[in-house]
Amino acid sequence: MNEQKNKPDRSEAKRQQDVVIRATLSQIKKKYLVMSGKGGVGKSCLAVNLAVCLTQNGLKGGILDVDLHGPSVPRMLGLSSQMEIAPDRRIVPQTWSENLSVISIDSMLQDRDDAVIWRGPKKLNAIRQFISDVSWVPMDFLIIDSPPGTGDEPLAVARTIPSARAIVVTTPQEVSLADVRKSIHFLEKLNITVAGLVENMSGFICPHCGRPTDLFGKGGGRILAETMNIDFLGAVPIDPGVVPASDNGRPYVLEDPKSNFAKAVTQIAAQL
Ligand code: ADP
Repeated sequence: MNEQKNKPDRSEAKRQQDVVIRATLSQIKKKYLVMSGKGGVGKSCLAVNLAVCLTQNGLKGGILDVDLHGPSVPRMLGLSSQMEIAPDRRIVPQTWSENLSVISIDSMLQDRDDAVIWRGPKKLNAIRQFISDVSWVPMDFLIIDSPPGTGDEPLAVARTIPSARAIVVTTPQEVSLADVRKSIHFLEKLNITVAGLVENMSGFICPHCGRPTDLFGKGGGRILAETMNIDFLGAVPIDPGVVPASDNGRPYVLEDPKSNFAKAVTQIAAQL
């Protein structure tokens, strides 16, 4: 009996955490969940470059990397430090610039090569804590980078941040587009609004002759968006400069602001 009485009331703790989550989220004007049907389509790369682009326009924002098994946002922004805990025991986001803060599981691991072995409920808890236990300041936007597919992480984000709108990233190939249809149905079931679709790696412009080549095809994203009655936010071309810049922690929108990649990302950011 006594033991029962002394047990912390889990549901009360959860209710209190819900209050903190709601209060924190109310201070963030716009939330975007960047997702994709499959990996390697450039979702994290776009999340990072869109966030940087928005801060270049004077907005204040954050990136929340909920890719618990393969966080790549810190690497793409050149952030390597460990997380800090404030005196009030809240986690301090990493600062990329005065206007851009980042939270990623990566900064919480002792060793970057550590594998995180978590099941669904633990992931949901971690994602709730990324909101409730982090000292987020009032911001114009929060971009949430989720792992590919329709697994635990995007589900946890949808439950924790129901006001988030989704940006779905695809490449022009049919396999990728088929996965996107699945993502869109998943979002519909969870009542998450789709902000729009981005077609990444859409054509390649030769840096030598300037001629475009449709390496993976082109235009499938726009057709899919029209068919599914969602907004098409834009097509971002393949640019050979993106990979080395990302690998070295330099967002390409700053590295080469005149590139077609930067122009396309800037146009998408303007629509957000
Ligand atoms: P995802 O998050 O979908 O798994 P990433 O963002 O990690 O994919 O991108 C995969 C790789 O493709 C990275 O090396 C990234 O720098 C590169 N990449 C992404 N978009 C482009 C692009 N438009 N042009 C060239 N390389 C790109």
